[in-house]
Order: sequence, then C-alpha cells, then structure tokens
Amino acid sequence: MQDYETARRDWNWDTFRSWLDYLPGQKLNIAYEAVDRHVLHGRGNKEALRWFGKSGERKSYTYADLKRETDRFARMLTDRGFGPRTRVYSLLGRVPELYIAALGTLKAGAVFCPLYSAFGPEPVRSRMAIGKAEVLLAGPRDYAKKVAPARGSLPNLKMVLLTPSGTAPAPDTVDLAEVLANTPAQFECAQTDPQDMALLHFTSGTTGTPKGAVHVHEAVIAHNATGRIALDLHEDDIYWCTADPGWVTGTSYGIIAPLCAGATMIVEEAEFDAERWYALLEREKVTVWYTAPTAIRLLMRAGADLPKQYDLSRLRFLASVGEPLNAEAVTWSAKVFGTPFHDNWWQTETGGIMIANYAAMDVKPGSMGKPLPAVDAAIVEIDNGGIIIIDEPNIPGQLALRAGWPSMFRTYLDEQQRYDKTFRKGWYLTGDLAMRDEDGYFWFVGRADDVIKSAGHLIGPFEVESALVEHIAVAEAAVIGIPDERAGEIVKAFVTLHHGFEPTDELRKDLLGHARKKLGSAIAPRQIEIADDLPRTRSGKIMRRLLKAREIGLPEGDISTLETPT
Ligand code: AMP
Repeated sequence: MQDYETARRDWNWDTFRSWLDYLPGQKLNIAYEAVDRHVLHGRGNKEALRWFGKSGERKSYTYADLKRETDRFARMLTDRGFGPRTRVYSLLGRVPELYIAALGTLKAGAVFCPLYSAFGPEPVRSRMAIGKAEVLLAGPRDYAKKVAPARGSLPNLKMVLLTPSGTAPAPDTVDLAEVLANTPAQFECAQTDPQDMALLHFTSGTTGTPKGAVHVHEAVIAHNATGRIALDLHEDDIYWCTADPGWVTGTSYGIIAPLCAGATMIVEEAEFDAERWYALLEREKVTVWYTAPTAIRLLMRAGADLPKQYDLSRLRFLASVGEPLNAEAVTWSAKVFGTPFHDNWWQTETGGIMIANYAAMDVKPGSMGKPLPAVDAAIVEIDNGGIIIIDEPNIPGQLALRAGWPSMFRTYLDEQQRYDKTFRKGWYLTGDLAMRDEDGYFWFVGRADDVIKSAGHLIGPFEVESALVEHIAVAEAAVIGIPDERAGEIVKAFVTLHHGFEPTDELRKDLLGHARKKLGSAIAPRQIEIADDLPRTRSGKIMRRLLKAREIGLPEGDISTLETPT
C-alpha cells in the first residue's frame, strides 16, 4: 500500500478477493491459499516454517514439505471417516505437529479448534463439550491430566492423537507419528465453499460459558489482505509472530497470513525471555515482528542497553496487538529499533486486523490507527432500539464496524441469540469503548463490559467465579481485573465463605491452588480476597464494577467511567 487515502478510495473486498487464487467453481480453502498454491506456482522450495524447540532443536519445512505433511494429515483424517465439518481440536504447545494439523484439518474440509495448552482441565473440558470435539491432538501428559478424567462426559470424542509418543500409550488413544507413518501423503484439497465453517475460536464474555466464534474459509481473504497491508508482509520476509495459536492472533497471523504471503515464518516453542528473543531476532534475521504489549513492556524493563548488544538492523516492520500499546512504548521502540511498533486492533470475532497503523502512514503513538481500506468503523452511542453514530471527533463511545467483512464471525456456536445481540442496524458492536480524533485515528478507551485482559488473554469473570464456587468453602465469588504494570491487568477474586469456614491465610492459599488446578495458570486469579459480603444492585446482581472502583481508588459514588453505555 503506497498511500492510505488512495487505497481507501480505490480498494474494496473484491480487490482483496483478486489477490487469491481460488479453486475451480469459486471454491475457496484456507490451506490451499496458504500452502498448495505456492507449490503449484513453483515456489515449493521456499522455506515456509522454521521451528525452534525448547531444548534447542531446529526443524525447517519448505512449502513443498508443508504440502506433503498436510496432505498426509488430511488423508489420515478422511481415511478414518472424518471430513467435512468434523471438529478437530488441538491442545498442543507450539510444535510443528500443531501447524501441520491446523492446515491438514482445513485441507480435509474439517473444522480446526486450537486450545491454549496452558488451560487447566475445566476450560479444556467446557470448550470441548460446547464444540462437540470429535478429534483431539494433545501431548500425553496434558491428555492424562486434563482430558482423560473427563472423557466420559465428552461423548462426541472419537479419536485422540497423542504427540510426541508417550512411553506407554494411554487407553483409547492413538500415536500420531505412528498413524501418519502409515498414511500416504496423497490428498486432493477439499473443494470447500467460501461460507463453509473452517475455524472455531473460543472467547469470553461477561456472563455465561465461553463463546465459540465460528469463522469460515472466506476469512482467508482478510487474513491475506491484512497480512500484506497491516503487517507489510512480502514473500522475502522472515516473519515472527510471538502469539500462540491457542489465541486467535496465533492462528490468523501465526499460521495463515504469513503463509498466504509466501514468507518464511519463525515459530519458537519456548516462552518469553528478553535475551533469547533478541538473539533470535538477530540470528534469524527477522524482518517483520508481530508481538504484544505485555512482551514489549517486559523488553522495556530489560533496558535499552540489552538490544544494543545485538544486530537488529534487519527489522523492517514492528507491529503490536491485543492490549493498549502506550505511547511511551512506541517512542521507546522507535529509538531502540530504529522503527516504532505499529499498534493494530482487532478481536476474535473480527477474525482479522480491522484498525491499524500502516507502514504507509505516520504512526500516532498511543493510537490504534485507521480502519482497513474496505472496513467502515464508527464510534456509536447505543440507543434503545438502535444506535446513534457520533460524528464529532474525540467523543468516547462504543466502537462499531459495519457488518459484512469476510473474516467476520458467522455465529457463536449454538448461541444465535447471543450473536444477534452484538449487531444493531447493520453494525457489529465490538464491546470496546474508543474515540476517533480529527485526523481519523482511533484511540482505545476501555472495555464496555467486565471482561478482563491479562497478558493479552481475554478472561471471562464468570468462568473464574464458577470454578471458585466449586470449592467447598466458597459461597459466592466476584472476579475483576486490576491494573498491573506488566500484564496490563491481573485477575483478582473476592469470595464470601459458607458458615463454618474461617477466613484464614491457609484457606486463601488453598483457594488459589484450587483455582490454578482447575483453570490453569493463564486464567486462574493471582489474588483472592475473602470478604464478609459483596456489593450488589437492588436486583441482587453482584456489582463487579463497584469492587473494581474500590480496588483502583475511584470514589465509590462515581463509577460512571466503569459503567457500560448500554
Ligand atoms: P481477543 O478477542 O482475545 O483477541 O481480544 C480482543 C480485545 O482485546 C479487544 O476487544 C480489545 O478489548 C483488546 N485489544 C485488542 N487489540 C487492542 C489494541 N490494539 N488496543 C487496545 N485493546 C486491544
């Protein structure tokens, strides 16, 4: 993109459709566009995936290798009677098998649902039950700990594939390496319709169970276009997205977009470490880097002297997503890397980047940027039956997008009403509060609901509260996010106790342990306070917002900034 205003005037979704190949008869398959297409166009020898394991292993896959292995995986599924619409779940860390399974599943016309491997047994069970998981890929330990005990309550689960091979295979499981070794790498990519379901990503709301956002193959039009425009991806790029595919960023931009662009993508299995990250950026000559504010804050804490010890001159484009990126981080990165982090905004439901600071545009530090060409974004006020679009700049309201972009979620699985509620008068309501300035840049203000963002991960208070009240001592629980310098927010729980239980430190520790065991480290509260009572509305609803106002020192009578505009 040379110039934002020209692109906005001249480009629409048809422009972006024309950037893909399609299959005969206007059929469209994400895996075909991401992998097979490159091989057919003679780019099979190009390196697609460069993987670094936790123990120092390294593996490299060309586009031809990826085609062969995803063909094999798809064939393995269909040979066993799975195919269109089968829900294939993964509970794997960032290992090559995850990437092959994701693309192989799509190739078979089945639906891929990645779960974050740090989830505890309860989030795993609920998401598998809601999505009626039929096939699961997992590590032997995760399976034994998180899935095997609940297998009786997952009647749809027909096949469990374990990787790497365990010492003694668990009953009712299959060794992935073994079945693949006996499967030929021959498969004709499924001729899926653009509207066929492809991906299921779970997200959290204020109330109720996790929501399964349904995405279709047509989403690849947005993945490809935004990868090129918002992340400035080109075929010769070495690209590193640090997100885990268990979250939507790690799939849309950690698998699909870079492969569609024909780039080489880096995957590192291990978690954050400032020195290792800088060393990787230098050694692998990374040119485009997509990460999140929590990591950037940790890098800032590690100091500006550390990156000076590395040659990071190949870095051409830096982007950030998932939480507000403060202006200070943008200016810091410009100084340290010679180019600033470009903030962009989107969410599970949008499937792809919707608002961004583009390479072709000046970055406004602290702003999320401007809507993608072909996307209409507005600040709206919610009125009884409809919405009022706020035209004046710098007035906060709810961020809304005009419905109809290709990567828009098509429903919340089996919850059509919940889905319908997010749309008004042809606009999708994002649940975020934002402002637009006089130059058309959007600024994040806050969430319009009680959902918590911790280290870039969306956490529904209800899921945490439900796990806490399962403890024998807990009568009620209320969960909020409290500000944290590193993670943006951390989860804090307030609980009241049943008669006969004393608020001892020992009990508090026991509750922390209980939550961690059930929910896993990514979701469990970091702090638990035992309270005599919880504040509630006249109708008896617990007021999380009041708890939050007290916690962050806002006057209790003035919680207007925490109120939803609905
Ligand atoms: P998720 O669906 O887990 O990807 O989370 C989406 C939510 O993360 C959004 O609705 C925002 O609340 C938040 N978010 C994502 N990107 C940004 C950003 N650039 N600035 C501020 N908040 C963001």
